[in-house]
Amino acid sequence: MVETGTLKGPEKAREQKPISTLDVPGRPKKAMRPSAEPIFEVRKLTVSYDGKPAIREIDLDIGRNRITALIGPSGCGKSTMIRCFNRMNDLILGAQVEGSILYHGQDLYGPAVDPVEVRKLIGMVFQKPNPFPKSIYDNVAFGPRVIGMDGSMDSIVERALARAALWNEVKDRLKDNAYRLSGGQQQRLCIARCLAVEPDVILMDEPCSALDPIATGRIEDLMVELKSDYSIVIVTHNMQQAARVSDMTAVLMPDVEAGDNAVGRIVEYDDTEKIFTNPENKRTEDYVTGRVG
Ligand code: ADP
Ligand code: MG
Repeated sequence: MVETGTLKGPEKAREQKPISTLDVPGRPKKAMRPSAEPIFEVRKLTVSYDGKPAIREIDLDIGRNRITALIGPSGCGKSTMIRCFNRMNDLILGAQVEGSILYHGQDLYGPAVDPVEVRKLIGMVFQKPNPFPKSIYDNVAFGPRVIGMDGSMDSIVERALARAALWNEVKDRLKDNAYRLSGGQQQRLCIARCLAVEPDVILMDEPCSALDPIATGRIEDLMVELKSDYSIVIVTHNMQQAARVSDMTAVLMPDVEAGDNAVGRIVEYDDTEKIFTNPENKRTEDYVTGRVG
């Protein structure tokens, strides 16, 4: 784990802010963290749009302090799946979520759970960097201001930018409009914006697909650094990326057994190394070796 002075802040801020309905247990010291403690337990998850299923009966546990990759051909439901983890599908008209997802053992879709709170704890970074048309500083300060975080805003902003490996590049231009940053910097800014509100989980839906290889490499390094403090779920269509950064890989494929090419199911879920070197499933093998997809 990368320990610097700036990394201690989030733990402190988290203690100051008790969470009302979604209790995140205090983060134990790294050495005490069981390697496979689930943060999410997904059971029989089916998501439909206007009554037509896009993913069906997904069962999967997501481990804490792990990078979990969701891979599979375009249209098989990766974005649909990752959006379930922070209830973003609630915002899509016609989307229906069935089955259950437990988050730290609590029903993520329970009636007492506030979806806004969910999206604070479980942040999301999108394919295309989407900074607000505001200054670098105001982008990062936005979330903390909305939720009224305690403490000096300057240090909250600095800490988040440092954690996202962007501070040194922007510390002298915090008042510049975020649009003046490069694509890779904008994506790190979006990660900083997500980190600023002290999330527990970071969801990333193809976060590098709009970036060049150098910017991609920086985001990948950052992900690996962040996983000691956060749990990360990433959708990627880049096999090398999944192989490089993730600990676990879930392979989503059209449900051909059921004769339904439009519905995604998980055909294999295992340690990333196993998925890429010795998969159990023939379709996984064809996909990761580039024979299909
Ligand atoms: P992937 O991210 O793997 O490319 P998606 O989750 O985006 O796949 O899409 C899975 C299926 O769900 C596709 O058939 C897609 O057309 C459909 N879908 C995705 N989002 C919506 C939406 N907002 N409304 C209707 N259908 C959607
Ligand atoms: Mg997608």
